[in-house]
Amino acid sequence: MENKCFNQEVSPKVYIETMGCQMNKSDTERILGMLSYFGYEETTDPKDADLLMVNTCSIRQLSADKAYSLIGVWGKWKAEEHSKKLLKKPFKNIKIAFCGCVAQQDKEKLLKRFPYVDLVFGTNNVYELPDLIKRINAGERVCATNETPKKFTDGEEEKKYPIKRAKSLNAWIPIMEGCDNFCTYCIVPFTRGRERSRKPSEIIEETQKAIRQGFKEITLLGQNVDSYGKNLDPVKDYDGREVTLANLLRDLNKIDGKFRIRFVTSYPTDISDDLIKAVKECDKVCEFFHIPMQSGNSKVLKEMNRRYDRETYGEIVKKIRNAFEDVAITSDFIAGFPGETEEEFLDTLSAIEEFELDYSNTAAYSPRVKTKAAKWTDKFIDENTKSQRLARLNEKNREASLKSNQKCTGKTFEILVESYEEKDNQIILAGRARNNKIVHFNGEKNCVGQFVNVKITGASTWHLKGELI
Ligand code: SF4
Repeated sequence: MENKCFNQEVSPKVYIETMGCQMNKSDTERILGMLSYFGYEETTDPKDADLLMVNTCSIRQLSADKAYSLIGVWGKWKAEEHSKKLLKKPFKNIKIAFCGCVAQQDKEKLLKRFPYVDLVFGTNNVYELPDLIKRINAGERVCATNETPKKFTDGEEEKKYPIKRAKSLNAWIPIMEGCDNFCTYCIVPFTRGRERSRKPSEIIEETQKAIRQGFKEITLLGQNVDSYGKNLDPVKDYDGREVTLANLLRDLNKIDGKFRIRFVTSYPTDISDDLIKAVKECDKVCEFFHIPMQSGNSKVLKEMNRRYDRETYGEIVKKIRNAFEDVAITSDFIAGFPGETEEEFLDTLSAIEEFELDYSNTAAYSPRVKTKAAKWTDKFIDENTKSQRLARLNEKNREASLKSNQKCTGKTFEILVESYEEKDNQIILAGRARNNKIVHFNGEKNCVGQFVNVKITGASTWHLKGELI
Protein backbone atom coordinates (compact mmCIF):
# COMPACT_ATOMS: atom_id res chain seq x y z
CA MET A 1 0.00 0.00 0.00
CA GLU A 2 1.48 3.31 -1.02
CA ASN A 3 0.64 5.07 2.20
CA LYS A 4 2.51 2.50 4.33
CA CYS A 5 5.69 4.47 4.19
CA PHE A 6 7.40 2.91 7.17
CA ASN A 7 8.31 -0.30 5.28
CA GLN A 8 7.62 -2.76 8.05
CA GLU A 9 6.56 -6.32 7.26
CA VAL A 10 4.29 -6.67 10.27
CA SER A 11 2.09 -3.76 11.30
CA PRO A 12 3.77 -1.92 14.15
CA LYS A 13 1.59 -1.30 17.18
CA VAL A 14 0.96 1.94 19.00
CA TYR A 15 -0.34 2.43 22.52
CA ILE A 16 -1.40 5.92 23.55
CA GLU A 17 -2.35 7.13 27.01
CA THR A 18 -4.34 10.37 26.93
CA MET A 19 -4.64 12.75 29.85
CA GLY A 20 -6.63 15.93 30.30
CA CYS A 21 -9.33 17.69 28.35
CA GLN A 22 -11.42 16.84 25.30
CA MET A 23 -9.04 18.83 23.10
CA ASN A 24 -6.29 16.36 24.02
CA LYS A 25 -8.64 13.46 23.35
CA SER A 26 -9.44 14.97 19.99
CA ASP A 27 -5.71 15.33 19.22
CA THR A 28 -5.24 11.66 20.11
CA GLU A 29 -7.96 10.70 17.62
CA ARG A 30 -6.09 12.64 14.93
CA ILE A 31 -2.72 11.14 15.92
CA LEU A 32 -4.14 7.60 15.80
CA GLY A 33 -5.80 8.33 12.45
CA MET A 34 -2.50 9.54 11.03
CA LEU A 35 -0.58 6.55 12.37
CA SER A 36 -3.19 4.13 10.99
CA TYR A 37 -2.73 5.80 7.59
CA PHE A 38 0.92 4.79 7.82
CA GLY A 39 0.18 1.21 8.84
CA TYR A 40 0.22 1.37 12.65
CA GLU A 41 -2.33 -0.67 14.58
CA GLU A 42 -3.64 0.58 17.90
CA THR A 43 -3.21 -1.75 20.87
CA THR A 44 -4.81 -1.44 24.30
CA ASP A 45 -1.92 -3.38 25.87
CA PRO A 46 1.16 -1.17 26.38
CA LYS A 47 3.39 -4.25 26.69
CA ASP A 48 2.46 -5.21 23.15
CA ALA A 49 3.35 -1.85 21.63
CA ASP A 50 6.27 -0.81 19.41
CA LEU A 51 5.44 2.84 19.96
CA LEU A 52 4.37 4.09 23.40
CA MET A 53 2.93 7.57 23.55
CA VAL A 54 1.63 9.75 26.33
CA ASN A 55 -0.51 12.75 25.38
CA THR A 56 -0.09 14.97 28.41
CA CYS A 57 -2.00 17.67 30.28
CA SER A 58 -0.30 20.47 32.19
CA ILE A 59 -3.32 22.13 33.80
CA ARG A 60 -2.35 20.68 37.19
CA GLN A 61 0.92 19.38 38.58
CA LEU A 62 -0.76 16.08 39.49
CA SER A 63 -1.47 15.34 35.86
CA ALA A 64 2.08 16.23 34.76
CA ASP A 65 3.49 14.01 37.55
CA LYS A 66 1.30 11.13 36.37
CA ALA A 67 2.81 11.46 32.89
CA TYR A 68 6.38 11.55 34.27
CA SER A 69 5.82 8.42 36.32
CA LEU A 70 4.25 6.59 33.36
CA ILE A 71 7.25 7.50 31.22
CA GLY A 72 9.49 6.18 34.04
CA VAL A 73 7.71 2.80 33.94
CA TRP A 74 7.99 2.60 30.15
CA GLY A 75 11.68 3.54 30.34
CA LYS A 76 12.20 0.60 32.69
CA TRP A 77 10.50 -1.71 30.20
CA LYS A 78 12.74 -0.40 27.46
CA ALA A 79 15.80 -1.06 29.60
CA GLU A 80 14.59 -4.56 30.37
CA GLU A 81 13.62 -5.24 26.77
CA HIS A 82 16.53 -7.55 26.18
CA SER A 83 16.10 -9.47 29.39
CA LYS A 84 12.71 -10.83 28.16
CA LYS A 85 11.33 -10.20 31.62
CA LEU A 86 8.25 -8.24 30.87
CA LEU A 87 7.40 -7.90 27.25
CA LYS A 88 5.37 -10.22 25.10
CA LYS A 89 7.63 -9.53 22.13
CA PRO A 90 11.16 -8.73 23.27
CA PHE A 91 13.85 -7.19 21.00
CA LYS A 92 11.32 -4.86 19.47
CA ASN A 93 13.23 -1.67 19.88
CA ILE A 94 10.39 0.16 21.57
CA LYS A 95 10.07 3.87 20.88
CA ILE A 96 8.70 6.27 23.47
CA ALA A 97 7.02 9.57 22.59
CA PHE A 98 5.90 12.41 24.82
CA CYS A 99 3.34 14.85 23.38
CA GLY A 100 0.62 17.32 24.41
CA CYS A 101 0.79 20.32 26.72
CA VAL A 102 3.64 19.16 29.00
CA ALA A 103 5.74 18.47 25.89
CA GLN A 104 4.96 21.94 24.54
CA GLN A 105 5.89 23.45 27.89
CA ASP A 106 9.06 21.47 28.84
CA LYS A 107 10.51 20.90 25.34
CA GLU A 108 14.16 19.63 25.24
CA LYS A 109 14.23 19.40 29.03
CA LEU A 110 12.21 16.20 28.67
CA LEU A 111 14.82 14.57 26.41
CA LYS A 112 17.49 15.44 28.99
CA ARG A 113 15.46 14.26 31.96
CA PHE A 114 14.31 10.99 30.35
CA PRO A 115 17.19 9.53 28.30
CA TYR A 116 14.99 6.70 27.01
CA VAL A 117 12.42 9.07 25.43
CA ASP A 118 12.84 9.16 21.63
CA LEU A 119 10.41 11.88 20.68
CA VAL A 120 8.96 15.01 22.23
CA PHE A 121 6.41 16.84 20.11
CA GLY A 122 4.15 19.73 20.98
CA THR A 123 0.55 20.67 20.35
CA ASN A 124 1.59 22.64 17.25
CA ASN A 125 3.45 19.72 15.66
CA VAL A 126 0.78 17.05 15.47
CA TYR A 127 0.71 17.07 11.67
CA GLU A 128 4.49 16.59 11.42
CA LEU A 129 4.20 13.21 13.10
CA PRO A 130 4.82 11.03 10.00
CA ASP A 131 8.18 12.72 9.43
CA LEU A 132 9.04 12.66 13.14
CA ILE A 133 8.35 8.91 13.37
CA LYS A 134 10.62 8.25 10.38
CA ARG A 135 13.40 10.16 12.09
CA ILE A 136 13.13 8.30 15.40
CA ASN A 137 12.92 4.96 13.59
CA ALA A 138 16.21 5.91 11.94
CA GLY A 139 17.74 6.30 15.42
CA GLU A 140 17.45 10.05 16.03
CA ARG A 141 16.15 11.54 19.27
CA VAL A 142 13.87 14.40 18.28
CA CYS A 143 12.25 17.39 19.94
CA ALA A 144 9.70 19.31 17.83
CA THR A 145 7.83 22.02 19.70
CA ASN A 146 7.10 24.90 17.35
CA GLU A 147 5.78 28.07 18.88
CA THR A 148 3.91 28.89 15.68
CA PRO A 149 0.79 26.85 15.27
CA LYS A 150 0.55 24.78 12.13
CA LYS A 151 -2.94 23.55 12.85
CA PHE A 152 -5.87 25.26 11.18
CA THR A 153 -3.64 27.23 8.81
CA ASP A 154 -4.62 25.51 5.59
CA GLY A 155 -6.59 22.45 6.64
CA GLU A 156 -4.88 20.27 4.02
CA GLU A 157 -3.36 17.76 6.48
CA GLU A 158 -6.65 17.56 8.32
CA LYS A 159 -8.39 16.48 5.13
CA LYS A 160 -5.65 14.07 4.13
CA TYR A 161 -5.59 11.86 7.22
CA PRO A 162 -8.43 9.85 8.73
CA ILE A 163 -9.60 10.49 12.30
CA LYS A 164 -9.78 7.44 14.54
CA ARG A 165 -12.64 8.50 16.77
CA ALA A 166 -12.77 6.94 20.25
CA LYS A 167 -16.55 6.89 20.48
CA SER A 168 -18.98 5.53 17.93
CA LEU A 169 -21.81 8.02 18.52
CA ASN A 170 -20.13 11.23 19.67
CA ALA A 171 -17.62 13.05 17.48
CA TRP A 172 -15.42 15.83 18.86
CA ILE A 173 -14.74 18.54 16.30
CA PRO A 174 -12.18 21.23 17.23
CA ILE A 175 -13.29 24.58 15.85
CA MET A 176 -10.75 26.84 17.50
CA GLU A 177 -7.67 26.46 19.61
CA GLY A 178 -5.64 28.52 22.05
CA CYS A 179 -6.66 31.37 24.30
CA ASP A 180 -5.96 35.11 24.56
CA ASN A 181 -7.36 35.57 28.05
CA PHE A 182 -4.30 34.91 30.21
CA CYS A 183 -6.11 34.09 33.43
CA THR A 184 -3.41 34.38 36.07
CA TYR A 185 -3.53 30.68 37.06
CA CYS A 186 -3.74 29.11 33.60
CA ILE A 187 -1.04 27.55 31.46
CA VAL A 188 -3.20 27.14 28.32
CA PRO A 189 -2.12 30.35 26.49
CA PHE A 190 1.49 29.15 26.90
CA THR A 191 0.91 25.56 25.78
CA ARG A 192 -1.84 25.98 23.18
CA GLY A 193 -0.90 29.45 22.02
CA ARG A 194 -3.10 32.37 20.97
CA GLU A 195 -6.62 31.94 19.68
CA ARG A 196 -7.06 30.80 16.12
CA SER A 197 -10.19 29.51 14.49
CA ARG A 198 -10.77 26.95 11.81
CA LYS A 199 -12.61 28.04 8.68
CA PRO A 200 -16.38 27.39 8.75
CA SER A 201 -16.19 25.43 5.48
CA GLU A 202 -13.74 22.92 7.01
CA ILE A 203 -15.89 22.46 10.12
CA ILE A 204 -19.03 21.99 8.03
CA GLU A 205 -17.24 19.45 5.85
CA GLU A 206 -15.93 17.49 8.86
CA THR A 207 -19.39 17.52 10.46
CA GLN A 208 -21.08 16.32 7.25
CA LYS A 209 -18.57 13.49 7.06
CA ALA A 210 -19.13 12.49 10.70
CA ILE A 211 -22.90 12.43 10.18
CA ARG A 212 -22.50 10.29 7.02
CA GLN A 213 -20.36 7.92 9.10
CA GLY A 214 -23.23 7.48 11.56
CA PHE A 215 -22.28 9.81 14.43
CA LYS A 216 -25.33 11.09 16.29
CA GLU A 217 -23.81 13.88 18.30
CA ILE A 218 -21.06 16.32 17.53
CA THR A 219 -19.31 18.45 20.14
CA LEU A 220 -17.59 21.60 18.90
CA LEU A 221 -14.41 22.11 20.89
CA GLY A 222 -12.45 25.19 21.80
CA GLN A 223 -10.68 26.46 24.92
CA ASN A 224 -12.82 29.55 24.53
CA VAL A 225 -15.40 28.29 22.07
CA ASP A 226 -17.74 31.29 22.12
CA SER A 227 -15.02 33.62 20.86
CA TYR A 228 -14.88 31.51 17.68
CA GLY A 229 -14.16 33.40 14.48
CA LYS A 230 -12.34 36.43 15.89
CA ASN A 231 -9.30 35.97 13.66
CA LEU A 232 -11.21 35.05 10.49
CA ASP A 233 -12.16 37.38 7.68
CA PRO A 234 -15.94 37.58 7.01
CA VAL A 235 -15.38 38.35 3.32
CA LYS A 236 -12.70 35.75 2.60
CA ASP A 237 -13.87 33.06 4.99
CA TYR A 238 -17.68 33.34 5.27
CA ASP A 239 -19.26 34.98 2.20
CA GLY A 240 -19.33 38.33 3.97
CA ARG A 241 -21.20 37.03 7.02
CA GLU A 242 -19.96 37.67 10.53
CA VAL A 243 -17.86 34.66 11.62
CA THR A 244 -19.37 33.75 14.98
CA LEU A 245 -20.26 30.59 16.85
CA ALA A 246 -23.93 31.58 16.52
CA ASN A 247 -23.76 31.67 12.71
CA LEU A 248 -21.72 28.46 12.60
CA LEU A 249 -24.38 26.70 14.70
CA ARG A 250 -27.06 27.95 12.27
CA ASP A 251 -25.14 26.47 9.34
CA LEU A 252 -24.43 23.15 11.06
CA ASN A 253 -28.09 22.91 12.04
CA LYS A 254 -29.00 22.85 8.33
CA ILE A 255 -27.09 19.61 7.72
CA ASP A 256 -29.55 16.78 6.97
CA GLY A 257 -30.08 13.97 9.44
CA LYS A 258 -31.08 13.40 13.04
CA PHE A 259 -28.19 14.41 15.25
CA ARG A 260 -27.29 16.75 18.10
CA ILE A 261 -24.80 19.57 18.42
CA ARG A 262 -22.99 20.65 21.60
CA PHE A 263 -20.17 23.13 22.21
CA VAL A 264 -17.61 23.56 25.02
CA THR A 265 -16.05 25.51 26.78
CA SER A 266 -17.68 28.95 27.07
CA TYR A 267 -16.14 32.07 28.58
CA PRO A 268 -18.98 33.83 30.48
CA THR A 269 -18.75 37.28 28.90
CA ASP A 270 -18.30 35.90 25.38
CA ILE A 271 -21.79 34.38 25.45
CA SER A 272 -23.63 36.83 23.23
CA ASP A 273 -27.38 37.35 23.00
CA ASP A 274 -27.12 36.11 19.42
CA LEU A 275 -25.53 32.86 20.63
CA ILE A 276 -28.42 32.26 23.04
CA LYS A 277 -30.83 33.10 20.19
CA ALA A 278 -29.07 30.64 17.87
CA VAL A 279 -29.24 27.84 20.46
CA LYS A 280 -32.96 28.53 20.79
CA GLU A 281 -33.56 28.64 17.02
CA CYS A 282 -31.57 25.54 16.13
CA ASP A 283 -33.41 22.33 16.96
CA LYS A 284 -30.22 20.24 16.79
CA VAL A 285 -28.28 22.37 19.28
CA CYS A 286 -28.62 21.10 22.85
CA GLU A 287 -29.71 23.27 25.78
CA PHE A 288 -26.45 22.86 27.67
CA PHE A 289 -23.86 25.48 28.60
CA HIS A 290 -20.56 24.80 30.33
CA ILE A 291 -19.51 28.18 31.75
CA PRO A 292 -16.56 28.10 34.18
CA MET A 293 -16.98 30.67 36.95
CA GLN A 294 -13.78 29.70 38.87
CA SER A 295 -14.63 31.72 41.99
CA GLY A 296 -17.82 33.17 43.45
CA ASN A 297 -15.98 36.21 44.82
CA SER A 298 -15.49 39.33 42.68
CA LYS A 299 -12.12 40.27 44.24
CA VAL A 300 -10.70 36.81 43.60
CA LEU A 301 -12.09 36.90 40.05
CA LYS A 302 -10.22 40.16 39.48
CA GLU A 303 -7.00 38.60 40.76
CA MET A 304 -7.62 35.65 38.47
CA ASN A 305 -7.89 38.20 35.60
CA ARG A 306 -11.35 36.95 34.75
CA ARG A 307 -13.25 39.71 32.89
CA TYR A 308 -16.47 39.56 34.94
CA ASP A 309 -17.62 39.80 38.52
CA ARG A 310 -20.08 37.72 40.53
CA GLU A 311 -23.04 39.89 39.49
CA THR A 312 -22.23 39.75 35.77
CA TYR A 313 -21.92 35.96 35.91
CA GLY A 314 -25.30 35.80 37.66
CA GLU A 315 -26.89 37.96 34.96
CA ILE A 316 -25.61 35.68 32.20
CA VAL A 317 -26.95 32.61 34.00
CA LYS A 318 -30.32 34.32 34.48
CA LYS A 319 -30.52 35.26 30.82
CA ILE A 320 -29.88 31.66 29.78
CA ARG A 321 -32.34 30.20 32.29
CA ASN A 322 -35.03 32.64 31.11
CA ALA A 323 -34.50 31.54 27.51
CA PHE A 324 -34.87 27.76 27.98
CA GLU A 325 -37.08 25.45 29.97
CA ASP A 326 -34.78 22.49 30.68
CA VAL A 327 -31.34 24.00 30.23
CA ALA A 328 -28.37 22.77 32.27
CA ILE A 329 -25.54 25.10 33.23
CA THR A 330 -22.33 23.58 34.53
CA SER A 331 -19.19 25.27 35.79
CA ASP A 332 -15.59 24.90 37.00
CA PHE A 333 -14.25 26.16 40.35
CA ILE A 334 -10.82 26.46 41.93
CA ALA A 335 -10.42 26.12 45.72
CA GLY A 336 -7.54 27.87 47.48
CA PHE A 337 -6.45 30.42 44.85
CA PRO A 338 -3.47 32.45 46.26
CA GLY A 339 -4.74 34.88 48.89
CA GLU A 340 -8.30 33.47 48.97
CA THR A 341 -9.76 34.08 52.45
CA GLU A 342 -12.33 31.87 54.17
CA GLU A 343 -15.04 34.48 53.47
CA GLU A 344 -14.08 34.63 49.80
CA PHE A 345 -14.20 30.85 49.59
CA LEU A 346 -17.68 30.89 51.17
CA ASP A 347 -18.77 33.11 48.25
CA THR A 348 -17.88 30.24 45.92
CA LEU A 349 -20.09 27.85 47.89
CA SER A 350 -22.94 30.36 47.89
CA ALA A 351 -22.57 31.01 44.14
CA ILE A 352 -23.18 27.32 43.37
CA GLU A 353 -26.39 27.54 45.37
CA GLU A 354 -27.54 30.99 44.25
CA PHE A 355 -27.03 30.32 40.54
CA GLU A 356 -28.41 26.77 40.86
CA LEU A 357 -25.49 25.34 38.94
CA ASP A 358 -26.28 21.83 37.82
CA TYR A 359 -22.78 20.44 38.19
CA SER A 360 -19.23 21.75 38.60
CA ASN A 361 -15.75 20.44 37.96
CA THR A 362 -13.59 21.28 40.94
CA ALA A 363 -9.87 21.44 41.67
CA ALA A 364 -7.48 22.77 44.28
CA TYR A 365 -5.25 25.57 42.99
CA SER A 366 -2.02 24.21 41.47
CA PRO A 367 0.76 26.70 40.59
CA ARG A 368 1.90 26.45 36.96
CA VAL A 369 5.19 27.80 35.68
CA LYS A 370 5.03 30.95 33.52
CA THR A 371 1.68 32.00 35.01
CA LYS A 372 1.39 35.18 37.09
CA ALA A 373 -0.24 33.60 40.14
CA ALA A 374 2.58 31.04 40.46
CA LYS A 375 4.85 33.93 41.46
CA TRP A 376 2.61 35.01 44.37
CA THR A 377 4.24 32.46 46.69
CA ASP A 378 3.74 34.70 49.75
CA LYS A 379 -0.03 34.39 49.20
CA PHE A 380 -0.13 30.60 48.69
CA ILE A 381 -2.73 28.77 50.76
CA ASP A 382 -1.34 25.80 52.71
CA GLU A 383 -2.09 22.32 51.33
CA ASN A 384 -4.23 21.30 54.28
CA THR A 385 -6.57 24.31 53.95
CA LYS A 386 -6.73 23.83 50.18
CA SER A 387 -7.72 20.19 50.48
CA GLN A 388 -10.31 20.97 53.17
CA ARG A 389 -11.82 23.67 50.95
CA LEU A 390 -11.84 21.29 48.00
CA ALA A 391 -13.68 18.67 50.10
CA ARG A 392 -16.30 21.27 51.12
CA LEU A 393 -16.61 22.42 47.51
CA ASN A 394 -17.16 18.83 46.40
CA GLU A 395 -19.81 18.35 49.06
CA LYS A 396 -21.63 21.49 47.86
CA ASN A 397 -21.35 20.25 44.29
CA ARG A 398 -22.86 16.87 45.25
CA GLU A 399 -25.80 18.65 46.94
CA ALA A 400 -26.30 20.91 43.89
CA SER A 401 -26.18 17.99 41.47
CA LEU A 402 -28.72 15.99 43.48
CA LYS A 403 -31.04 19.00 43.76
CA SER A 404 -30.80 19.68 40.04
CA ASN A 405 -31.47 16.01 39.21
CA GLN A 406 -34.46 15.86 41.56
CA LYS A 407 -36.04 18.75 39.64
CA CYS A 408 -36.14 16.51 36.54
CA THR A 409 -38.44 13.91 38.11
CA GLY A 410 -41.72 13.63 36.25
CA LYS A 411 -40.37 15.24 33.06
CA THR A 412 -39.93 13.48 29.73
CA PHE A 413 -36.59 13.77 27.97
CA GLU A 414 -35.34 12.73 24.57
CA ILE A 415 -32.38 10.42 25.22
CA LEU A 416 -29.59 9.35 22.91
CA VAL A 417 -28.86 5.79 24.07
CA GLU A 418 -25.09 5.34 24.38
CA SER A 419 -24.54 1.95 26.05
CA TYR A 420 -26.09 -0.98 27.88
CA GLU A 421 -25.27 -3.26 30.77
CA GLU A 422 -26.78 -6.69 31.61
CA LYS A 423 -27.75 -6.96 35.27
CA ASP A 424 -30.02 -9.52 36.99
CA ASN A 425 -31.38 -10.70 33.61
CA GLN A 426 -32.25 -7.16 32.63
CA ILE A 427 -30.81 -4.80 30.05
CA ILE A 428 -30.03 -1.44 31.62
CA LEU A 429 -29.54 1.28 29.04
CA ALA A 430 -27.58 4.49 29.64
CA GLY A 431 -27.92 7.64 27.59
CA ARG A 432 -27.88 11.41 27.67
CA ALA A 433 -30.65 13.96 27.63
CA ARG A 434 -30.24 17.13 25.57
CA ASN A 435 -29.19 18.93 28.78
CA ASN A 436 -26.36 16.37 29.16
CA LYS A 437 -27.85 14.56 32.14
CA ILE A 438 -27.16 10.83 32.24
CA VAL A 439 -30.26 8.65 32.38
CA HIS A 440 -30.50 4.90 33.17
CA PHE A 441 -33.56 2.86 32.16
CA ASN A 442 -34.60 -0.65 31.09
CA GLY A 443 -34.83 -1.47 27.41
CA GLU A 444 -33.40 -3.52 24.56
CA LYS A 445 -29.80 -3.69 23.38
CA ASN A 446 -30.82 -2.54 19.91
CA CYS A 447 -31.82 0.84 21.37
CA VAL A 448 -28.11 1.79 21.50
CA GLY A 449 -27.56 4.55 18.96
CA GLN A 450 -31.27 5.49 18.88
CA PHE A 451 -33.11 8.54 20.16
CA VAL A 452 -35.90 7.49 22.54
CA ASN A 453 -38.28 9.28 24.90
CA VAL A 454 -37.90 8.51 28.59
CA LYS A 455 -40.01 9.61 31.53
CA ILE A 456 -37.83 10.45 34.55
CA THR A 457 -38.93 8.51 37.62
CA GLY A 458 -36.08 9.05 40.05
CA ALA A 459 -32.88 10.94 40.72
CA SER A 460 -29.58 10.26 42.43
CA THR A 461 -26.53 12.52 42.74
CA TRP A 462 -24.91 11.73 39.40
CA HIS A 463 -27.69 10.28 37.23
CA LEU A 464 -31.40 9.99 36.62
CA LYS A 465 -33.62 6.93 36.42
CA GLY A 466 -36.47 6.62 33.98
CA GLU A 467 -38.89 4.52 31.94
CA LEU A 468 -39.15 4.24 28.18
CA ILE A 469 -42.38 5.66 26.87
S1 SF4 B 1 -10.06 31.46 29.54
FE1 SF4 B 1 -8.53 31.49 31.18
S2 SF4 B 1 -8.77 29.44 32.11
FE2 SF4 B 1 -9.73 29.32 30.10
S3 SF4 B 1 -8.12 28.57 28.74
FE3 SF4 B 1 -8.09 30.82 28.64
S4 SF4 B 1 -6.53 31.44 30.13
FE4 SF4 B 1 -7.11 29.32 30.60
